[in-house]
Amino acid sequence: MSRPVPNPGILDIAPYTPGKTPVPEPGRKVFKLSANETPFGPSPKAIEAFKRVADHLEDYPEGTSRVLREAIGRSFGLDPNRIICGAGSDEILNLLAHTYLGQGDEAISTNHGFLVYPIATMAVGARNVIAEETNLTCNVDAILKVVTPKTKLVWLANPNNPTGTYIPFDEVKRLRAGLPSHVLLVLDAAYCDYVSRNDYEMGIELVATTENTVVTHTFSKIHGLAALRVGWMFGPEHIIDAVNRIRGPFNVSTPAMYAAVAAIEDTGHQGMSKQFTETWRNWLTEEITKLGLRVTPSVANFVLIHFPTDNGRTSDDADAFLTKRGLVLRALKNYGLPHSLRMTIGTEEANRLVVDALREFMAGK
Ligand SMILES: *Cc1c(COP(=O)(O)O)cnc(C)c1O
Repeated sequence: MSRPVPNPGILDIAPYTPGKTPVPEPGRKVFKLSANETPFGPSPKAIEAFKRVADHLEDYPEGTSRVLREAIGRSFGLDPNRIICGAGSDEILNLLAHTYLGQGDEAISTNHGFLVYPIATMAVGARNVIAEETNLTCNVDAILKVVTPKTKLVWLANPNNPTGTYIPFDEVKRLRAGLPSHVLLVLDAAYCDYVSRNDYEMGIELVATTENTVVTHTFSKIHGLAALRVGWMFGPEHIIDAVNRIRGPFNVSTPAMYAAVAAIEDTGHQGMSKQFTETWRNWLTEEITKLGLRVTPSVANFVLIHFPTDNGRTSDDADAFLTKRGLVLRALKNYGLPHSLRMTIGTEEANRLVVDALREFMAGK
């Protein structure tokens, strides 16, 4: 008997394997350091705004997320008409794939890039083309080398997840200049708020001065609103127009919208979080390196820790050892990093516990 058949490409997508549910020893407090969530939660003002809206859950949201686009516009100095909001930036990435990719097309991402990119690409029947990184960092020449006449889109998280590395804005501009003008460059700036490097830019200038570049951003990381699913994109007018035609008319909920407005206006909360992250990122990098483990220099709110391959010292061993103590990091086999664990920077207590546990682990206890 015949049965429904998924579109071409769908069954080529590796099934998503979520991080395993932690089973710590009884009585252990659990620290989830596996999803790059902020240890601080959102601004208290965002929680207030969310609760205020709870009295009117019967009403559909305002369909264009106007109040949020205006707040983002004020915060970044952007024209709100060139912003689209979405249910997380994941939705926006998928909308871009639906708008610009189809069967026979190719989209490029890097070999340790964010896994949503290949999924979004393959879900619409396009081919996912991999460009090799150098030292776990985007290599612009490697991307340019795999461009073919079929290339329609390039996905680039800057900084990248899960590596924590970034490329300077000059390199992003060189990438743009080297790509054919019909190729859409998607700059995913999910972690831009954590970067303090003079040569880094999230890419707004490039969007403003070209017809083929967009920047996406999220409220899930420094703003601490991952549960609400809010992201946004800044793009050229013609791209905003095209994507708006397929966007669900009520894709951002009212509570999410108003919480996000309050969050983006609380610059004090963001500043505190950024400062804390920087301090503990430096501390963790230094302390973990002292234990004889390699840590990739990160500019984001997580660090990538590399483990040896000898028996008893592998990343699997470390993962089990840490999990027993309630310290849940992210294994990265499906990101092509079988010997590494990604640790989201947590509270001071969590960070110290991880270093103490890793010290014991390396001492063979
Ligand atoms: C976390 C993350 C996002 C944000 O996704 P949302 O759907 O907005 O929660 C986007 N890109 C990268 C690279 C991320 O790590």
